[in-house]
Amino acid sequence: MQWDCPACGGVHTGNLLKKAVKVVLEHNLGTCQPDIALLDEFNCTVAVIEVVVTHAPEQTALDYYKNNHIAVVSYKLKSDEDFNRLDAPILKPDSVDVCKNPKCSKCENYMSKKHLLIIDGNCWKCQAPMKVAALYEGNFSLSDIQLATQYGVLMKLHYSRTLGMKYVANTCRKCGAFIGDHYLFTDYVAVDSYNRQELDAGYYCHHCSSNSEDEDSEDFE
Ligand SMILES: [Zn+2]
Ligand SMILES: [Zn+2]
Ligand SMILES: [Zn+2]
Repeated sequence: MQWDCPACGGVHTGNLLKKAVKVVLEHNLGTCQPDIALLDEFNCTVAVIEVVVTHAPEQTALDYYKNNHIAVVSYKLKSDEDFNRLDAPILKPDSVDVCKNPKCSKCENYMSKKHLLIIDGNCWKCQAPMKVAALYEGNFSLSDIQLATQYGVLMKLHYSRTLGMKYVANTCRKCGAFIGDHYLFTDYVAVDSYNRQELDAGYYCHHCSSNSEDEDSEDFE
């Protein structure tokens, strides 16, 4: 099964139903009656499947599922053709309220996958070939810098007079020129003609801007 995750913005695949041993249609849970309920060996409801044809499940039902840690898999069916989707080899429901990513240790929200870009660029000043690291969001953590270094990027601490603070920037090995945050996007990330690779770099919390590694790039000297 595969689903888009509203909590982290990513796509997850997995078998949510592996704990389930029994399928019950229109199972009565007291406050609500899901279309399909999946029960585990102790007769506990582990997940419900709601097939939404006319109206979405009631808020009281959604609250009940949340409080009882029941996964909600929903299908929105608009035409007869949509019914075929229920037989597809990989089920693609419209929403599943389960996120497989870790939770942020600071704010308890689900974190998003973070990607580190390694771009084969050229130095803006001396034109020498230059490996450039970039993130779509957030600041470089110590482990991002270590990973970038393994891929041939030179990252050094620079002082910005405009920001009044030190920060880590991509630096040319030949002439020592460095790339400021703004130009990193406009002159490298946005330039499609530069080859690039995307590396897995742990998780990032877009709610409180912390990294999964819990280290700060300020430690980098
Ligand atoms: Zn997720
Ligand atoms: Zn240079
Ligand atoms: Zn957070």
